[in-house]
Amino acid sequence: MFNVAILTIFPEMFPGFLSCSLAGKALKKKIWDLEVVDIRFFAKDKHLTVDDVPYGGGAGMIMRPDVIGDAVDNVLSAYKNTKFVYMTPSGIKFNQSIAKELIRFPHVTILCGRFEGIDQRVINEYTPYELSIGDYILSGGEPAAMVVLDACIRLLPGVVNNSNSITEESFSYSNGILEYPQYTRPKQWRGHKVPEVLLSGNHKKISNWRQKQSFVLTKRCRPELLDGEINDKFT
Ligand code: SAH
Repeated sequence: MFNVAILTIFPEMFPGFLSCSLAGKALKKKIWDLEVVDIRFFAKDKHLTVDDVPYGGGAGMIMRPDVIGDAVDNVLSAYKNTKFVYMTPSGIKFNQSIAKELIRFPHVTILCGRFEGIDQRVINEYTPYELSIGDYILSGGEPAAMVVLDACIRLLPGVVNNSNSITEESFSYSNGILEYPQYTRPKQWRGHKVPEVLLSGNHKKISNWRQKQSFVLTKRCRPELLDGEINDKFT
């Protein structure tokens, strides 16, 4: 089972869309499990403050290390073998190989920041695995954590019915390139025909055509993938 603990000040955001479709069914079947820890529970004052102004001045609020630290300790002491992840735009950019690596951990803890982020000392203290979902700023780590979890959960055995659909999609071939174009009924739509080869029943020919299309598509849309950039190392 893939066990996840989320640290957030918005516990009501979870499981969110992860309660629908494949991930939702898998949650019910206990293929993965989710524990949501409310950081606010570890606040030190009666107003349940979790943030404060930045030392040195500047815009926005920073999440306090004493509050976050106690919340993190609470989870890390309960799950000694957990992989501790902090969602942050400064992290390594998430990709399919990282998803594959993450599901190998029996337990993953994901810290979601808010406001202008967390006090740097929390990062220095725990050296979490810093993970970004792309070069843009979200208002919080929660949607980022859900994106990461969605990509992980569908790789767990028993979540997607046909395991070929996991191994034969974009970024998942041994060379990590894009998937070939796909077609379904009807054979003709608004004058556009399905490529003849796919109707031929010749599996060898179909497979060769798909390989070539994968390559052509990758070269046109994501040429950098052909240089192996997708195989970023996971640390
Ligand atoms: N001031 C920070 C941004 C803080 S955004 C900066 O300039 O880098 C608030 C929180 O949202 C962050 O702590 C992080 O947990 C989350 N977040 C925002 N964008 C993200 C992204 N692209 N990937 C992962 N987490 C992100």
